[in-house]
Amino acid sequence: MKEFQETLYDAISQNFRIDKMYFEQKTGHQHLMIFHNAVLGRVMTLDGVVQTTELDEFIYHEMMAHVPIFAHGNARRVLIIGGGDGGMLREVLRHSEVEHVTMVEIDAAVIDMAKKYLPNHSAGAFDDERAQIVIADGMNYVRETEDRFDVIISDSTDPIGPGEVLFTNDFYAQCKRILNEGGVMAAQNGVPFFQIDEVKNTRLRMSAHFSDQTFYSAAVPTYYGGIMTFAWGTDNAALRGTAIDELRARYQNAGFRTRYYSPEIHIASFALPQYVQDAI
Ligand code: SAM
Repeated sequence: MKEFQETLYDAISQNFRIDKMYFEQKTGHQHLMIFHNAVLGRVMTLDGVVQTTELDEFIYHEMMAHVPIFAHGNARRVLIIGGGDGGMLREVLRHSEVEHVTMVEIDAAVIDMAKKYLPNHSAGAFDDERAQIVIADGMNYVRETEDRFDVIISDSTDPIGPGEVLFTNDFYAQCKRILNEGGVMAAQNGVPFFQIDEVKNTRLRMSAHFSDQTFYSAAVPTYYGGIMTFAWGTDNAALRGTAIDELRARYQNAGFRTRYYSPEIHIASFALPQYVQDAI
């Protein structure tokens, strides 16, 4: 039986049995695989790195979408960079106050194959009239767009290959430029236990542009190594101070159920282990 062996790290790796291969191809940008595993369900990998699995994607997508949007409280326009599997788009669109979502994905093949082989991720989100899908490099988009957004979510791969530009000072500067007054940005920022330099680099680069820069976390089982961090950047420190009662009211009013996110988890996720605090 064939196995997928993750190549994110040199000296350690995780292996998933491939019970059925749905798709494998070098797209114009990256090596894309979608396969079925008896435990994880359908799995997508890019350039040998696990991107998302049906079993645990809800944790990641709920935490990256709902923490900034519930903290903001009135997000009308949202920008997603990356997110080709459609899970982030699905979760953002659950907020009825959201009027428009632009999703900028560099690799059309990821969207096309996710629609076909990971249909539960997008669950129809790509057909939502509020969604605008742009096929482009996120770095070029944020540099050139004249649009403005209340929430920006960088749902990128790791800082290797096409994703590298999405962890640069220039990227954060341009995101700051296109954020509306009081807006907030959240970005996928790796597993600090093994990728602590990503936390240090993001802290250095992002804090130059946002007065309230920190991280929040959640453990996503197939992002090997314990908790992962989500970078947080805003000039509106009040967002992070949104009281639990207010979050509960917003969650109640939103009228949808989640499987990981809760107002209590929202608050708690900003409490960081000492070794991560020491790194920033
Ligand atoms: N949850 C995953 C993680 O935490 O690693 C990310 C999932 S999503 C599949 C990552 C997406 O980022 C991919 O679809 C990839 O094509 C896209 N991507 C990588 N570099 C990009 C860039 N420069 N501009 C836009 N999208 C990019």
